[in-house]
Amino acid sequence: MLGNTKGRLINKYVPDYVLFDLETTGTSSNYDEVIEISAVKVQSGVIVGEFSQLVNPGKSIPYAASMVNHITDDMVAEAPEFEEILQAFMDFVGDSILVGHNINSFDMKFLYRDSERYFGQTVTNDYIDTLKLARLCLPDLGHHRLSDLAQYYGISTEGAHRALNDCRMNQQVFEQLAKEMDGSAGEKAKVKLCPICGQPMRKRNGRFGEFWGCSGFPGCRYTENI
Ligand SMILES: [Zn+2]
Repeated sequence: MLGNTKGRLINKYVPDYVLFDLETTGTSSNYDEVIEISAVKVQSGVIVGEFSQLVNPGKSIPYAASMVNHITDDMVAEAPEFEEILQAFMDFVGDSILVGHNINSFDMKFLYRDSERYFGQTVTNDYIDTLKLARLCLPDLGHHRLSDLAQYYGISTEGAHRALNDCRMNQQVFEQLAKEMDGSAGEKAKVKLCPICGQPMRKRNGRFGEFWGCSGFPGCRYTENI
């Protein structure tokens, strides 16, 4: 939903959410533009709806970007501009919690910038970043790209880097990460959860050595001795 206060980053599983992904003309949330936005709506862990739209960015797509996401100028020439698509996306999202991979550093910045640009308001939905969650749940895994996690869980990566396929893949990854947190994935990766807010605890270093600190810090300040 649009409003005056940005939503918060939360580090836990919820069964109802909208998982989304953007493709863009490049990596800068200052200079680049959205060229595709896709999302899946999930209830009780199951996909119940999909949203996918190409966007005309009003400028040409650099070759390097097309190489990654396989979207070309021709494909977006007849597509609507992002003002129209963003409104439709926000209608699809409603008051759902948003989920995505690396969205804290990337996708949310584009949503915030463009909702302010077009509507003079910001995105108020709380959100979950599966990259942050994966780093907390699987600290020993060398890389935490979406493709690394899909491979780790044996999920198909066919059609990767088009937004809707990435959403479907990411949705399965998020559901697997949920199992790490409730312990049903087995002993290998049981995650310690904060008794106050339910977010994963992680080891931190303080003046008196290592301790468990809530990953919700500074929103949650719970700590425990190791
Ligand atoms: Zn906590």
